[in-house]
Amino acid sequence: MIKEMVCVSCPIGCMLTVELNDNNEVISVKGNTCKRGEQYAVDECTNPVRMLTSTVRVNGGVLPVVPVKTAKPIPKGKMFDCMEVINNTVVDAPIRMGDVLITNICDTGVDIVATNED
Ligand code: SF4
Repeated sequence: MIKEMVCVSCPIGCMLTVELNDNNEVISVKGNTCKRGEQYAVDECTNPVRMLTSTVRVNGGVLPVVPVKTAKPIPKGKMFDCMEVINNTVVDAPIRMGDVLITNICDTGVDIVATNED
């Protein structure tokens, strides 16, 4: 099977052509102009990850919610489970930028951190 994708590891955005065998293992990557592109293609085909951004409700803050993000990318398959945890979380003000509001969300080893104050 052939998959085509754009490498988003840098602003150049090389178009990658990835060849996979019947076990979904990467056989070859073409179109990348550096090693990062090859690694991106392998990761995207075997363990795709994404940054997650959202908001968490705040008790007693100036605003009712504070923006948050994952401290690192998380597995794409855990996005919905993580959103459910985030949507059911309420924190108390004051919140500072960088505060960890949820630790090790959904056993990903990744924290949810505030990206603003409240
Ligand atoms: S392959 Fe390398 S140069 Fe091309 S977009 Fe990816 S990181 Fe950038």
